[in-house]
Amino acid sequence: MPITTRAAVVESGGAPFTLSDVVLDEPGAGEVLVRMVAAGLCHTDLGVAGGGLPFPLPGVLGHEGAGIVEDVGPGVTSVAPGDHVLLSFTSCGDCRNCRGGHPAYCATWLPLNLIGGSRADGTGTISRDGETLGGHFFGQSSFADRALADERSVVKVDPDVPLASIAPLGCGVQTGVGAVWNVLKPETGATVVVLGSGAVGLSAVMAAALTPATRIVAVDRVAERLALATELGATHTVDTSREDLAEALTGITGGQGADGVVETTGNVGVLRQGVDALAARGTLVVVGAPPFGSEVALDVNGLLGGKRIVGLTLGDSETQTMIPALVRLVKEGRLPLHRLISTYPFGDIDRAAQDMKSGKTIKPVLAF
Ligand SMILES: [Zn+2]
Ligand SMILES: [Zn+2]
Repeated sequence: MPITTRAAVVESGGAPFTLSDVVLDEPGAGEVLVRMVAAGLCHTDLGVAGGGLPFPLPGVLGHEGAGIVEDVGPGVTSVAPGDHVLLSFTSCGDCRNCRGGHPAYCATWLPLNLIGGSRADGTGTISRDGETLGGHFFGQSSFADRALADERSVVKVDPDVPLASIAPLGCGVQTGVGAVWNVLKPETGATVVVLGSGAVGLSAVMAAALTPATRIVAVDRVAERLALATELGATHTVDTSREDLAEALTGITGGQGADGVVETTGNVGVLRQGVDALAARGTLVVVGAPPFGSEVALDVNGLLGGKRIVGLTLGDSETQTMIPALVRLVKEGRLPLHRLISTYPFGDIDRAAQDMKSGKTIKPVLAF
């Protein structure tokens, strides 16, 4: 039987989130019905809600869901009703990168997660008054009391950890952590620079603090964010509202440059400065996404010292391994995610979005 549930619907690009009753299909093969307990808001939700991506609207967004399994469809074996789960991105499970343990680079990643709005077979998961809405966002569309999720979006987690404290692991946090652990893999004594101290950047700082890197440099224009970065493990900070980035990094590294840089701002000028700040054989990870079609000019000869520039999606995480590990670190107090989170009732989703846009809140989490 179809399921009626309350969802935050975006009616058109630039419109607010408004609550509305929608209808979910009952779980089909490989699908899981999840009662949402919490859901993080991410800048990608705002980008799509603002009409910046070709996702079909009206539609239901949300891709950091956390909840309890209510029902499963045929063939689902990894979870059962009553399990606590986090929702992350989905993938086909069968292409070369999925089979190789890199599902964030699934051949069908973009339509399945970000812009398709429907299942892989083209059918919708959510409707209202008989009209199909955009859904299946990251295989979940979790801005709703109940979500119909792909089994591959679902990760079973320790039921002793409050779901509202770990919801952002599904996207923003594993992106920042993965940039450091999966790509930079800092060696002993390395210098890691994190450009931007939002949720992703601060997650990268916390992750770097759990590696043998000895210099961790947080960069931002907001003094309070840099103060928080210091509490989370940054050894140095650069406030670009009053310091020159290149000069400051030269000073901090004694002229050596950075072994690793995580670029989270999505600003191509900052990206260029990050590449210039790399040491020989240093790596810059591009995490922040500027508007589609953006380009950056690079000093080609400056790259010849073995510099690498690597783009990254979702931390290149294999979610079934990464997310339970992060949950454990949160539980043990070694990944103090609560420092980034502000909670809002689900009905206040639009206020949460405004607070994230204005920078008042680093990581809003909606409580259902
Ligand atoms: Zn996200
Ligand atoms: Zn795949």
